[in-house]
Amino acid sequence: MTSMSFAATLFGPEDLRIIERPLEPLTEGMVRIRFGAGGICGSDMHYFRHARTGDFVVTSPLVLGHEIAGEVVEIAGAAQGVKVGDRVAVNPSRWCGHCGPCREGRLNLCENIYFMGSASKTPHMAGGFASYFEATPAQCVKIADHVSYQAAALAEPLAVCLHAAARAGDLRGKRTVVFGAGPIGLLTMLAARRAGAADLTVVDIAPAPLAFASRLGADRVFDISGGDDGLKAQAAVAPFDVVFEVSGTAAGLAGAIGIVRRGGIVVQIGNLPGGQIPTPSNAVMAKEIELRGSFRFSLEFMTAVELICDGAVDVLGLVTAERPLSSAPEALRLALDRSQSVKVVLTAH
Ligand SMILES: [Zn+2]
Ligand SMILES: [Zn+2]
Repeated sequence: MTSMSFAATLFGPEDLRIIERPLEPLTEGMVRIRFGAGGICGSDMHYFRHARTGDFVVTSPLVLGHEIAGEVVEIAGAAQGVKVGDRVAVNPSRWCGHCGPCREGRLNLCENIYFMGSASKTPHMAGGFASYFEATPAQCVKIADHVSYQAAALAEPLAVCLHAAARAGDLRGKRTVVFGAGPIGLLTMLAARRAGAADLTVVDIAPAPLAFASRLGADRVFDISGGDDGLKAQAAVAPFDVVFEVSGTAAGLAGAIGIVRRGGIVVQIGNLPGGQIPTPSNAVMAKEIELRGSFRFSLEFMTAVELICDGAVDVLGLVTAERPLSSAPEALRLALDRSQSVKVVLTAH
């Protein structure tokens, strides 16, 4: 094994550098993982462009990356259930297991959570866009031999979407809309389909992602860049029971509240701008809308790995490009170009 590691480290807006440093001795109880693959997430792109996402602001150099898979190469001390040579999907969350939300089983709301590659806490926790990185044994979920690291890395965004689908409650027979046809929107559509949604409409403001949504099985798509008359006409014919707001924009949330049926459910998954944003909140009252947040995931991570290993969800169908980890800055720029990118995945070489 080499004695050096390199990591895609963010210093400020558009300032992502590959920083090499010596490997530190592994902390007792931790596992060292050699990078196999890493998905570039919308939040990585937000960090890259603005050095912040939502209310999380980068205040010191941050290694990006939380959709990761790789090979266990070293273990310090005893590590239950993990051995050197294991190929694993890495859950970026470390839950404390003893706070109120953890005891309620709402692990994603853990008060003491550490989440890789996130500026939600200071000091920030380094992410996994690094040739070697550390994790706890509990973060490592073994993958089947036939599963690629590229597919395993996408367990994380799939888990986000399985959680969002669960937050919507029983989706069987529900007429469902997804606002935003990026990777999370598309995986939410697939998760909603698996959960029994009867009818899936996908909305975006760009044609390329919508064409992708159609290929992945959307019943209909609307490009609302020129207005939402078509969407409203559709809602008038057959009202929408559930809307997943994935765009993370004030306009998207307003659109979701506007389009959902009376008594319907809106699930907010997209990371909205921090601070206060204008929304037609009175409609939440007047239409008795249930507005529900959906943040990350809990044990859905294990389910996501299982679904990928079983071939039940074709996550690789979203991948539009692969780039080596050492080209992370260029890969992030490519990912930002929605006319050609859905999901960009970093690979070891
Ligand atoms: Zn992500
Ligand atoms: Zn906790």
